[in-house]
Amino acid sequence: MTVTRTIFVTGGVMSSLGKGIVASGLAALLQAHGYKVRLKKFDPYLNVDPGTMNPNQHGEVFVTDDGAETDLDLGHYERFVHESASRYDTVTSGRVYSDVLAAERRGDYLGNTVQVIPHITDRIQELLPVDVKEDVDFLICEIGGTVGDIEGLPFIEAIRQFSQKVGSQNSLFIHLTYVPYLASAGEIKTKPSQHAVKELLHVGIQPQILMCRCEHPIPAEARRKLALFCNIDKDNVIEASDVDTIYAVPLKYHQSGLDRQVLKHFGLWKEQEADLSQWNDFVSRLRSPKAEVKIAVVGKYNEVKDSYKSILESFIHAGAANEAKVKVEILPAEDLEPQSFKTDQLKAFVKEKLSEYDGILVPGGYGLRGSQGKISAIEYARENQVPFFGICFGMQLAVIEYCRNVLGMKDATSSELEKKGNMVVGLLTEWEKDGKKAKRTGEEDMGGTMRLGAYPCQLIKGSGAAKIYGTSQISERHRHRYEVDVKIKPQLEKAGMVVSGLSPDGKLPEIVELPDHSWFYGMQFHPELKSRPFQPHPMFKSFIQAALEHKQKR
Ligand code: GLN
Repeated sequence: MTVTRTIFVTGGVMSSLGKGIVASGLAALLQAHGYKVRLKKFDPYLNVDPGTMNPNQHGEVFVTDDGAETDLDLGHYERFVHESASRYDTVTSGRVYSDVLAAERRGDYLGNTVQVIPHITDRIQELLPVDVKEDVDFLICEIGGTVGDIEGLPFIEAIRQFSQKVGSQNSLFIHLTYVPYLASAGEIKTKPSQHAVKELLHVGIQPQILMCRCEHPIPAEARRKLALFCNIDKDNVIEASDVDTIYAVPLKYHQSGLDRQVLKHFGLWKEQEADLSQWNDFVSRLRSPKAEVKIAVVGKYNEVKDSYKSILESFIHAGAANEAKVKVEILPAEDLEPQSFKTDQLKAFVKEKLSEYDGILVPGGYGLRGSQGKISAIEYARENQVPFFGICFGMQLAVIEYCRNVLGMKDATSSELEKKGNMVVGLLTEWEKDGKKAKRTGEEDMGGTMRLGAYPCQLIKGSGAAKIYGTSQISERHRHRYEVDVKIKPQLEKAGMVVSGLSPDGKLPEIVELPDHSWFYGMQFHPELKSRPFQPHPMFKSFIQAALEHKQKR
């Protein structure tokens, strides 16, 4: 049996150093050498998947085509390797433990005592190569958390055992540490990295490559010290200094020799050049924009900047495609809903708050809080010909806004928001009394009641959406419980809002648009999950183009 070369990326010193970016950047480089790469993320927390986690705590939930709710690092993976991840690419402790406990209940362990070692560590090793096809040259596994954390220990032990089994010719440990610059002493400090490597040695792993995250260049003497005290080849002490854009990371790592050292480790280095032309081209377009637009994202998960990660990245891709810098500001929707105002005062207030933006995006979201502010933002964009992009909840609210303010259906709402009213948005089961349910993921608990993953969508020929996509058949990723009621379609269309995308059976509205508006689209799915640097999403690209035109007209 051939063993897939497996590279483990662990982190020391502290969190947030960017292990995901190291894993993704390395993957992009190996791809540039012509290799096929697969990335996986192992997370030590106990949630079975991140689907139930508040974006304010953990950042965005990334959804794969096959409907897995995953850590946002999988988004980085897709954006760096331009390939779709799957549910097998994310494993949490919660998942591992629930597998083992289910096996224990079934009696699979034949009366033995079930323990972290070997049962949990064995299960982790079983999950490592799952679904890695033979044509993959490298498997890169990022281990979440910081080495030394109690909860991460079973993963570290599992990868140690795995590497011992497959041998160092088939495995490689990369440890990411932090090399701070102490301004008062005027020097680079290597001690935190030395300790971080000791922590890893303590659990039996000698890393072969040390990635040193730093804000200042690491002088030769400090590198020599790191190599000596961490027991690492000097050429394998790699500088990972800050860059102005994460998309410059593959280029930076290439300069630092990461790809060369990794390929040397596996005996694959033959002085070949990596083809980095697409990365060079993308980064140079990013660095030399010819125009600038300002976009407001009217949301509510503002405490963590990663809550809207894929949207922000999609804007970077769309900006590069339009040779424009996209300045994005996340505005708390609640700021647009002061209680004391009458309707006209409120309109003027919202207009003042939003008038500086060239486009408005209302992203996905859940629950009542902030929903009125989002509706006000949509109303402003609709009435003032400001390009508007509604994603998922943003689309549902755009329909509600249209029903309330154009169709005069004042009580139009969603059953997610209110108990009483005209439910133009609701759970599918609330309308379909014939027992036909929306496709569910299986378990009827809070972790599995959404329409998740890729679904086909049929675009109406000649519609704006069909023109932008350049096709009439698309597939996009979903993550929601509620749907726009298709029964409202004739009324919407009579008043000017076209349902231009539908599920193939015609029952679920997927896209709404206003043909009489400069650019007004709402979509039930999340286009941001499929945008990539070299394949910017057509909707984001078109939105930025419209925002540029709007700016010129202003
Ligand atoms: N809360 C809405 C729903 O569940 C929208 C979800 C979202 O925006 N991702 O349908």
